[in-house]
Amino acid sequence: MSKTSYSIAVLPGDGIGVEVIDATIDVLQALAPRIGRHFDFAKHPAGAQHYVDSGESLPESTLAACRAADAILFGAMGLPNVRQADGTEIIPQLDIRFALDLYAGVRPIRTFAGLPGPLADARAAQIDLVLVRESTEGLFHARGRGRIEGTGDEAAALDTMKITHKGTARICDFALKLARQRKARGKPGRVTNVDKANVFLSMAFWRQVFEERAKAFPDVATENAYVDAMALNLVMKPWAYDVLVTENMFGDILSDLIAALAGGMGMAPSADIGDDYALFQPAHGTAPDIAGQGIANPSATILSGAMMLDWLAARHGDSTLADGARAIEDALSSAFAKGIVRPREFGGSSGTADIVRAVVGGL
Ligand code: ATP
Repeated sequence: MSKTSYSIAVLPGDGIGVEVIDATIDVLQALAPRIGRHFDFAKHPAGAQHYVDSGESLPESTLAACRAADAILFGAMGLPNVRQADGTEIIPQLDIRFALDLYAGVRPIRTFAGLPGPLADARAAQIDLVLVRESTEGLFHARGRGRIEGTGDEAAALDTMKITHKGTARICDFALKLARQRKARGKPGRVTNVDKANVFLSMAFWRQVFEERAKAFPDVATENAYVDAMALNLVMKPWAYDVLVTENMFGDILSDLIAALAGGMGMAPSADIGDDYALFQPAHGTAPDIAGQGIANPSATILSGAMMLDWLAARHGDSTLADGARAIEDALSSAFAKGIVRPREFGGSSGTADIVRAVVGGL
């Protein structure tokens, strides 16, 4: 008999993080009895406001709770005027990524009928791609390790890009396996490796590892692309891509670009996955400009909740959870397609609670 109850560590964070997390918990709680499962949500403190209140942005007890739970649901963290002593932002999500070795940043993007994106081409309706971002090294390895050499006119700031064989092999394997799974569900099953191998030694090394790993997946089609050309092509013909795999910094930038393809940050879910733990969060930040008004679009976080169910389903051999994920996605798509709700990002007037009500009503 497979597990029927799942513990979820919830880190709402700051700004609209709190609102979109509450919305997602409401959807998951409504789903639970319908699929005969129980979700035990426990909220834990972290983030910029917690830093102001306590001097800690990510308490050890919160990290321990993340380790103990079956999965982690995360809102958004950071506030514009809250900075650490060195002037950098409070970014506990990066600390969690490193602490739990969540090396795969997974950013799926698709378009929804009823919600027009920024591209006029009719083929934009077919956009359905996943960006896999290496999340533990690359240029982000430099965070906290940068140095300044020299002074005055001679001063130079240095950040180092670190690409390891092990780190690259595991993210390439992750992307190749994902493409194989997608192929089984009728998608193209193709991985586009995105790098800058024509300029940097680190990137030439990355490409070499990608090509080496791809040989172990003869059923998965692969190709290489330069990141600058990719920025162009993701605007010109995003429907031509299936799975993309790339270095941390390139992934950081391209994930915002692809969020725009879906019409806005409020539509972009995301997961940070490792071998032992996984965290699910919207791709957007705390959006202080709209916080506390009940107008944040919770779709990204609700879709991240569905990703969490898929991950738990695979990990625990509980296909009922995957059925639950499809029910959430279908309810959201249908609410948009039928015009029951339209987020403000798309010129509509639906607030957070309206969208939750529509999804719950469609489960
Ligand atoms: P970060 O640096 O953490 O990404 P940010 O403020 O630069 O934070 P976001 O928080 O992602 O970026 O928000 C950018 C803008 O997008 C916000 O100002 C807001 O207007 C809009 N936005 C982001 N998320 C949502 C959402 N869920 N619903 C509606 N609008 C959103």
